[in-house]
Amino acid sequence: MPEVPPQSTNGDESDGHVPVAVIGAGIGGLVTALALRRQGVRVVVFEQADALTEEGAGLALGANGTRALVRLGLGAELRRIAFQPEHVVFRHWRTGAVRQALPLGRDYEERFGAPFCTFHRADLRRLLADRYLDEGGELRTGHRCVAVTPLGDRVDVEFDGDRRVEAGVVVGADGVHSAVRTGVVGADRAVYSGRSGYRGLVAAERVGGVADELSFHLGPGKHMVVYPVHGGETVNFLAVVRDPRWTRESWVRRGRVADVLAAFADWSPAVTRIVGAADEVSHWGLFDREPVDRWSRERVTLLGDAAHPMLPHHGQGGNQAIEDAVVLAACLRRWPAQPALALDRYERARRTRTRMLQRGSRRNGECFQLPDGPAADARDDALRRLPEDLAWIHGYDADTALATLEESHHGELV
Ligand SMILES: Cc1cc2nc3c(=O)[nH]c(=O)nc-3n(C[C@H](O)[C@H](O)[C@H](O)COP(=O)(O)OP(=O)(O)OC[C@H]3O[C@@H](n4cnc5c(N)ncnc54)[C@H](O)[C@@H]3O)c2cc1C
Repeated sequence: MPEVPPQSTNGDESDGHVPVAVIGAGIGGLVTALALRRQGVRVVVFEQADALTEEGAGLALGANGTRALVRLGLGAELRRIAFQPEHVVFRHWRTGAVRQALPLGRDYEERFGAPFCTFHRADLRRLLADRYLDEGGELRTGHRCVAVTPLGDRVDVEFDGDRRVEAGVVVGADGVHSAVRTGVVGADRAVYSGRSGYRGLVAAERVGGVADELSFHLGPGKHMVVYPVHGGETVNFLAVVRDPRWTRESWVRRGRVADVLAAFADWSPAVTRIVGAADEVSHWGLFDREPVDRWSRERVTLLGDAAHPMLPHHGQGGNQAIEDAVVLAACLRRWPAQPALALDRYERARRTRTRMLQRGSRRNGECFQLPDGPAADARDDALRRLPEDLAWIHGYDADTALATLEESHHGELV
């Protein structure tokens, strides 16, 4: 696993009060912290890991995510680490024939006002961490949050090893197994989707180069998503199979390339060539949770996967964490003296949209894996309308979302 330097443990336990504590240094936590630093807020990120490591995997961000990052001043660096596929192409699982191809390059950028990009996760996380630390941010690694207790005008945050800090506001950005969530909404059950996914990275030269596209290979009971990362030097894939029961203790484990090859044996050479060239794969049980009605309590809120974990079939979990982050920062800027109000407004601005994406991601899982026949033909035909159908997702502008919410309530939010 690539390690993400630099590490910072600025600040120490003697500094017992922090205005804003962000729990978790994933994409959501780091973007939140960066957005708040840019507003001049003192924020401390607490991360359970001793170092910021990242699994070897890709991440795709739509215009809704990249727009927010560009506004945070990351545009040039983003383009440096990103790959911008020219097309999204849907292919038949066995023949590899193109069922639908749509532009993702300049046309997409003109339509939505920001690019569609793919990244190696470690590159993106390093960029976010570096920029946050450059802005004077504080990051305390080796801090696993175990409990968060709202106490009226402050919050007690407890870490393992019997360490604690007092915070003005706590943001639980601690992912799908969030400890902060348990304190806010109670211990709810993770829902297994009946599918698991194998993730792998392959050097492009090992598969004779890489197509300038994000491809979906859709077939009965399985699908595979492939796209370049690292400026096109590496190919990332996610191969999703039906897997009725996930009995392993952990949601992710080392997988076997031979199992993926066996599962996709009769698929097109475009698929088997890439899988066969992988040295290793990670194997993920795909879980989400039911949407919740509230995810803030007094001065504690949740963000990203901690608030609304979703299946990866819309490719939106990371995008939504970024949207959350900028809307939350905007609310804390708008209501600086009333943090509980700010958190409530943030949540109101975000709940419906993220709930729709949680549900839509479940539906996409089914839709991608239809058997050949009239239903699959109708799906492929309907994919032609994707730019219009997905405009509500990719066209979202987090900066204007709050203004719209305020307008729709005619000042009642104040
Ligand atoms: C197979 C797969 C493919 C995906 N592809 C895409 C995609 O293409 N595009 C997209 O937008 N999304 C994608 N996603 C979803 C995306 O990865 C997540 O939604 C996103 O990473 C969530 O970010 P986060 O910051 O909320 O949580 P995370 O990235 O999980 O970060 C949480 C952080 O909190 C830390 N932490 C956890 N518990 C504690 C604790 N108790 N105390 C302190 N720290 C703690 C963790 O160590 C971690 O650093 C995919 C997901 C999967 C599984």
